[in-house]
Amino acid sequence: MGIAEGRRALVIGVANEKSLAWAIARELRAQGAEVALTYQGAMLEKRVRPLAEQVGASVIGELDVTRDDQIDAVFAKLRETWGGLDMMVHAVAFAEREDLRERFLNVSRQGFLRSLEISAYSLVALARAAEPLMQARGGGSILTLSYLGAVRAVPNYNVMGVAKAALEACVRYLALDLGPSNIRVNALSAGPARTLSSSAIRDYYTMAHEVEKRAPLRRGMETEEVGRMAAAMLSELASGVTGQTVYVDVGYSIVGF
Ligand code: NAD
Repeated sequence: MGIAEGRRALVIGVANEKSLAWAIARELRAQGAEVALTYQGAMLEKRVRPLAEQVGASVIGELDVTRDDQIDAVFAKLRETWGGLDMMVHAVAFAEREDLRERFLNVSRQGFLRSLEISAYSLVALARAAEPLMQARGGGSILTLSYLGAVRAVPNYNVMGVAKAALEACVRYLALDLGPSNIRVNALSAGPARTLSSSAIRDYYTMAHEVEKRAPLRRGMETEEVGRMAAAMLSELASGVTGQTVYVDVGYSIVGF
């Protein structure tokens, strides 16, 4: 029997087959969960629907996290179909391309706010919407994805690093608020992976190569490793863990030089 048997999971952030959210959705299905996916806009719907079919997940609807009406619609539909929710994955981030290329010093007010809104505030808005559905199930578990740039100044990661720092702080405050409802909130800090989002970061792949050379495990991280750890953190196996950022980065973050 899988560790997510009988659980109902909402996974936000699948764009294509390389998405970390997709690795998590696949693992949750393999571990017995029912999974609902969302998509950001009609272009991505075409990618997400066939993926959902591949693993027997459902597509619950369109979700742009800057749109409160779409957040409301997705959670209304979840209430109607499932009546409750056990797990939610937030794998959403955005920064303007030029803000990942220029000096951080030059980030525009608008670029800064947009990045923080989509990459950090959205977790708060979604957790608020998820709370009553998770309470209906006696508790739940929320997981977001972060990166080392939250706690170190990683070249070119720029405003995204600031957004990840805010995201990790949101995880701690949400954990404090939602703990009494038996809802856990954690972040998984992943190593570099080739995805649509990471391709926007200048020299990301040179950096990824450096990680492979210096990390204790002397290799890159596999997206399946994110999927497996995410499923564990979302499940009862991690029932005593909340407010934490856990690294799945082949050990790179511990290396001093
Ligand atoms: P991805 O491009 O596959 O996923 C990013 C997702 O964010 C997409 O599905 C996109 O639709 C969604 N998104 C962006 N703006 C949105 C909005 N306004 N509303 C709704 N959705 C929106 O890339 P990924 O690398 O799988 O990214 C998933 C998460 O993992 C992100 O938080 C990213 O920062 C994090 N992460 C990625 C890496 C990496 O190396 N790829 C490393 C650590 C953390």
